[in-house]
Amino acid sequence: MMNELLSTNSLTKKYKHQTAVSDISINVCQGEIYGLVGKNGAGKTTLLKMIGGLCKPTSGDITFMGYSGKERRKILSRIGLLIEAPSLYTGMTAYDNLKLKCICTGINKKGYIEEILETVGLCEARNKKVSQYSLGMKQRLGIAMALVGEPDLLLLDEPINGLDPQGIVEIRNTLLDLNKKKNITIIISSHILEELSKVSTKFGFINNGELIKELSHTELDIACSEHIELEMPDPTRALPVLDRLGFTHYQVVDSHTIHIFERLEDSGHIAMELSKCEIPITSISVASKTFENYFLEMIGGVYND
Ligand code: ADP
Repeated sequence: MMNELLSTNSLTKKYKHQTAVSDISINVCQGEIYGLVGKNGAGKTTLLKMIGGLCKPTSGDITFMGYSGKERRKILSRIGLLIEAPSLYTGMTAYDNLKLKCICTGINKKGYIEEILETVGLCEARNKKVSQYSLGMKQRLGIAMALVGEPDLLLLDEPINGLDPQGIVEIRNTLLDLNKKKNITIIISSHILEELSKVSTKFGFINNGELIKELSHTELDIACSEHIELEMPDPTRALPVLDRLGFTHYQVVDSHTIHIFERLEDSGHIAMELSKCEIPITSISVASKTFENYFLEMIGGVYND
């Protein structure tokens, strides 16, 4: 059993004309990398801000390390966050930015900054001014800043937005490393499920401020794996036939489609049996889904970012 680190209970944030986050309940366990997936404007940043104590929920509550309500303020320093662009002094070096943060947080340990720089792979560039850093390096320094004080939970809002492929790989490796070696729990948001799938152990899908689905990496793999796609006017009629043929691992996905996740070589046989029972089908084929298509189908729309 994994220990629960954070949970939100019916968390809601309303602005004057808009509900940015509506009734969201999630559970994040110790050691997890929880991926928040949603289009721009879905409510990811607002949710992270409430968890990080940067904005106040309209209703609902948050429990973190057993603390909730006003009590939670006491342990907000256990959360490291990188939300929107990192606040860095660009005229200073990475080392000095970190030094300043250490002074502000009251940390004065020998070798502390070096270790953090090492963790995010910025040792060599430590004495360069931040203004000379690439976007990816700035993001990694942003993560380094969030790590000051050894947080138990790291909140990262779209940390790979705008990065080149190399930068993306570096951030990904940094996060996996942090999670594995320091057992830091991470909540990371992105509008690209494919990318999140490379680091996350669990996913929460957010659309229009609502949590529309939560699933594990294994469940995502299964949902996107190869399957027989059976299209027909009335799927319910086919179910007794599938049962009789011994299929157990299938799903009616909408009013005209069934997905069958086993015996992929049997599609001809299925078609024949259905035809014997005079049950019409429109098509039968073997298909698989990309993570991105799964995401798009789930939120029921076209990409409009
Ligand atoms: P995401 O991070 O998924 O892109 P956000 O949490 O930034 O989504 O925004 C969710 C919705 O809430 C958006 O429609 C946004 O316009 C609105 N919103 C966010 N912050 C504010 C604010 N301070 N005032 C009014 N509306 C806001």
